[in-house]
Order: sequence, then structure tokens, then C-alpha cells
Amino acid sequence: MNEQKNSAMREGGKILGGVLRDVQEYVKPGMTGKEIDAWVRAEIVRRGAGVAYDMLPKNESFPGAICISVNDAVIHGTPNDEELSEGDKVSFDLDVYYKGYFTDSAVTMIVGGKEKGAPAVRKMLSVTEAAMWEGIEQVKPGARIGDISAAVEKVLRKGKLGVIENYVGHGIGKSMHEDPEVPNYGKKGHGYKLKVGDVICIEPMSCLGKPKNYVDESDDWTVRLKDGSIGCHFEHSILVTETGYEVLTLPE
Ligand code: MG
Repeated sequence: MNEQKNSAMREGGKILGGVLRDVQEYVKPGMTGKEIDAWVRAEIVRRGAGVAYDMLPKNESFPGAICISVNDAVIHGTPNDEELSEGDKVSFDLDVYYKGYFTDSAVTMIVGGKEKGAPAVRKMLSVTEAAMWEGIEQVKPGARIGDISAAVEKVLRKGKLGVIENYVGHGIGKSMHEDPEVPNYGKKGHGYKLKVGDVICIEPMSCLGKPKNYVDESDDWTVRLKDGSIGCHFEHSILVTETGYEVLTLPE
């Protein structure tokens, strides 16, 4: 195990987890994505980390410090001037950079409070979060990526949710995206075998309807559902330890 790497990712992950926890408190109906983005950017810096998306290569530059994906958007939503309404679904996906390493986490909430969401949306949030935890529970040295993928998929399918297949989880460290890929569908016993010190992002992406999606041409980033249904995304960065796993992206 690389202790310097682990402690950098642990510290960065804690900052990230704190910002993601607090942004959910900060968000109120009537706010725009751009206002939220400005707050998140200031908080990342105030808490001593770097804005990871500023470090993307020029040809992939993202116009914001955080991905904000509203309703039919699943991932990669760009902060814009549209006001959020009570009952909107909003997913926040955030990377931070700290002492040479990236961490990555995502959460989905309902604007104005969980009780303002439609029952099907509320259920999607709890099922997708549970799918993420079921995937995380599989992590230990010697486990296969397929063990995680199969566990996540099982929970999503049992919850009658669409499973996004064309975007996947990934390794993380000195780069935002590293091998191996961590799909949200697959077969137990297949794929890369995890070893102590690996860090992977487990990130179920689901939807109420069909999982077919497209990139919105207006910003070349936002991934939206073709059938216009609602999408959902949860994510944590997970370190493989001697005894199992450590979730790096929780707040203090
Ligand atoms: Mg992410």
C-alpha cells in the first residue's frame, strides 16, 4: 500500500464528502445551477482542495466545478441559468484534487426535500443508493469487478429501474479516470481481480424508463434520457484494504 497516496486520497475524499453533504443543504428552490456551482467552487478552495474539472485538457474542458444533472439528465450536466423547482430531481457529481490525487463522488436529491418528490422518484433514489452500497460491500482483495457489477445490477433490476450501460465506474488516483472499468451490469466471478491499494469508483446510474441516452448538443456534455424519464446517480471512491474496503469520500 502506498501510504502517501492513501492519506492524500483520504483527506481529499473527506473534503469532497463534506462539500457534497453541504451542497444538499445549500440548494433551495429558485436557485440556478450557476449559483450552486459558484458556491461549490468557493467551498472546495476554502476547504483546501483544488477544482478537478479545471484540470481537464482544453479540448475536454467542462464549464463548471461540479456536474449538476436535473430531471431527464443523468450525468455530466453543465451548471446553467435555469432555476430549480421544488420536486426537481438533481444529481451532483464532483471530483476534487488534493496533493496530487483525485477523488470522485456523486449524490442525487430532490429539491425542497425528499417528501416533495414523486413516489417513483423517491424510490429510485433509495434503490440506486442501496445498489451502490451493495456493490461496495463486494469489495475486498481477490474480488472481481464482475462481483460488484452483478451485485449493483441485481438491486437496480429488482427495483424495476433502467440500467445505464454506456457509462461506467472506473479506477481513480493520479488521473480522474483509470483502469479498470466498473460497469453497473455483469457476471459474478468475471473481470479484473482487485488487489490491496486499488481505488475504484462505484457509481450506479439508473432511470425510471428506458436507459437509452444522448449527449445534449446545446452544451456537448449533458447526458439526457431519450424517453425523457428521470435519471439517478450515486457514487463513492473506494479503497481496497487488507480486510475489505474503505469509503474515501464520506464527510468527517
Ligand atoms: Mg463522478
